[in-house]
Amino acid sequence: MRDVIEIKNDIEFIKALKQRGGETLKKCYQCATCSVVCDLSPTENAFPRKEMIWASWGLKDELLSDPDIWLCHGCMECSEKCPRGARPADLLSAIRDYVYKNFAVPKFMGTALGSPKYLPILLLLPIILISILVLITQNWDLNNLFPVVNGPFRYKDFIAHGPIEGLFIAGNILIFAFTFWGYKRYWNNLKCKLNRPRVRNFWQATWQVIIELLLHKKFKQCTTNSTRFIGHLFIFYGFIGAVIATGIVVINILNIFGQILPEEMNLPIRMLAGFDINNPNEVREFFGLFVKLFGILSGFLIVIGSLMCILRRYNMPPEKGGSNYSDMLFLWVVWGVAFTGLLCVMFRLMHTATLGYPTYFIHLILVYFLLWYMPYSKFAHMVYRFLGLIFLKMYGREERKANSFVLN
Ligand code: SF4
Ligand code: SF4
Repeated sequence: MRDVIEIKNDIEFIKALKQRGGETLKKCYQCATCSVVCDLSPTENAFPRKEMIWASWGLKDELLSDPDIWLCHGCMECSEKCPRGARPADLLSAIRDYVYKNFAVPKFMGTALGSPKYLPILLLLPIILISILVLITQNWDLNNLFPVVNGPFRYKDFIAHGPIEGLFIAGNILIFAFTFWGYKRYWNNLKCKLNRPRVRNFWQATWQVIIELLLHKKFKQCTTNSTRFIGHLFIFYGFIGAVIATGIVVINILNIFGQILPEEMNLPIRMLAGFDINNPNEVREFFGLFVKLFGILSGFLIVIGSLMCILRRYNMPPEKGGSNYSDMLFLWVVWGVAFTGLLCVMFRLMHTATLGYPTYFIHLILVYFLLWYMPYSKFAHMVYRFLGLIFLKMYGREERKANSFVLN
């Protein structure tokens, strides 16, 4: 007697994938063109055809434990070549979106970040908290929410550093605890679909993945979409640069190693003209200027990179693929954080507090929006992808070397 295999298909899961941009998944007739054209698909058990089959059957457990979804870097080649217009690249993007919403803790936050109807409420929280910080600094003087200042001004006279840092540190501890919880649940859920033992330990795999991410190796292999490669590269390195520059400034403000930077860092021309390396104060000022320029450069990279990615998505013909709400929200927030950050620097150099203070207010709202909702937004994909790629490396799952593959 033949074995009977029971398939548990989840209709709600299919609906959720369709809402996230995978609405064409049922068009797939499993020709495997997508798996053949994908440069990143491994020889064995190629993707994304098998994910198309699992998705159309509603096999939620298979897909949520499938690390292969992180091998895809969204070049769209498969969607362009699909003879049925089933848009496998969008389906993979929808699955990834579902993954970080599904494993998020608490789960309702994942739902909130996935729908535009919750956006006003999500914005309201940082608006209220930042307004309270302004009022604390201004001694609860409601008439002085945006104080009028003529001439040079400092942002800490608008919002004091202490409350900002208190909120930043407390919020981040909480968010990182939730984030770690979500990642751990995901890691425990991952399964190697190939019947083979591990070929590397966790640390060896981690090191290899870090090198690949720094070199953007997999993005480079997607030769069809250079705009996306460059845009992502700019955001990636701009973000690393911004984290380093912000970290140095926060360390300085908290005085962890003694004051390493001067309080004021607006001395560009004088510093470069008469710099004395034997004078410790000038060395500090020069280092301060260097950190500031480094931060500005990082901001520019993020602004340009995110704009490239946004325009690419808007210019994509609908039949080739779309963008889901989460992706666009994330890109706009990232762009907004970097753009308002650069404007804040510019308004301060121009001594324009009337524009500087409101811009700083918006900047802080966007910064907190990005950080506090990190585990539930597209931001989280950075770490989910990192974990997925480590897992795959541990089992020796690599992209194919020659143009051959095995379908399952
Ligand atoms: S998604 Fe398109 S290319 Fe891939 S198997 Fe289905 S019909 Fe073929
Ligand atoms: S989008 Fe690119 S990387 Fe992803 S499955 Fe399609 S061809 Fe492969």
